[in-house]
Amino acid sequence: MSAATTRSRTPDRLCAEAVDQARSAAEEAAAPGVVGEHVGLVSEGDRVVTHFFECKELGYRGWRWAVTVARASRAKLVTLDETVLLPGSDALLAPEWVPWSERLRPGDLGPGDLLPTEAEDLRLEPGFTGEEGPPPNSVIAEPSHDLAERVEAEDAELTDRAPAAAARGGIASLAEELGMRRARVLSRYGLHLAADRWDEAFGARTPMAQAAPAACVTCGFLVPMAGSLRQAFGVCANEFSPADGRVVSLAYGCGGHSEAAVMPKPPQPSPPVLDSLAADEFPLHPPRPSGSVPSPTPDEDLGHS
Ligand code: SF4
Repeated sequence: MSAATTRSRTPDRLCAEAVDQARSAAEEAAAPGVVGEHVGLVSEGDRVVTHFFECKELGYRGWRWAVTVARASRAKLVTLDETVLLPGSDALLAPEWVPWSERLRPGDLGPGDLLPTEAEDLRLEPGFTGEEGPPPNSVIAEPSHDLAERVEAEDAELTDRAPAAAARGGIASLAEELGMRRARVLSRYGLHLAADRWDEAFGARTPMAQAAPAACVTCGFLVPMAGSLRQAFGVCANEFSPADGRVVSLAYGCGGHSEAAVMPKPPQPSPPVLDSLAADEFPLHPPRPSGSVPSPTPDEDLGHS
């Protein structure tokens, strides 16, 4: 037996010596030729010992076949308890599972893909409802309480970064809006060139738009533009869309459209039902063909014949 990793409890001698019996059990459970060296044992309790064998199967580096054997009090017969494949300390393990919504990265969305949004997606809120008062995403609308602090912090950060703007309603602000504070502005020709370019990159004829469930014009992630180009273009503000931060044609679209699919709430599992009226029988062995030797009874197993 190789140098054993043992707990402080002294392993039962008969169980510790049952290496061959444990190996046979591991070989019966494993594919042929994948049970390697005996690498240790641990005492699990009184007369209960687990033997470990190397797993030589490719892809299971560091895993070990663990075979637990046990012995009844005053019995000399060691019996098999269970055989299982367990990871060792340096085992190659699958990475922890991460939900797809957290795995998703900008740029993952391709033509024909559909990206559902959560019903309570914090990035979206109800549009114009016809009621009095400013639209919910207007700068003068009150943000909801849970968003108020976040919006305030982000507004403050943006104000710090933005160049000093002319006071609203002043002559300078009007002049700025008309382009009068710039030496030159885009000509009609320049506007046409830009519109053609944007339409080619993010327009209705792109494969993404052709496979999209709906167009940008109805999407909650579309930020309208100012000026004459707003009739045909807006800016996409969906981080998962390939057009995030880009000018898109109102006829463009992608699978991340806010209303294309709303993620259903995960179903609540029903409470567990405990049936304590009767005991269920589970056969430990498949039925043997007639004429074969019957397996020993539990009493015989323990040497109480
Ligand atoms: S590109 Fe997609 S996510 Fe962006 S505005 Fe258009 S439909 Fe919405």
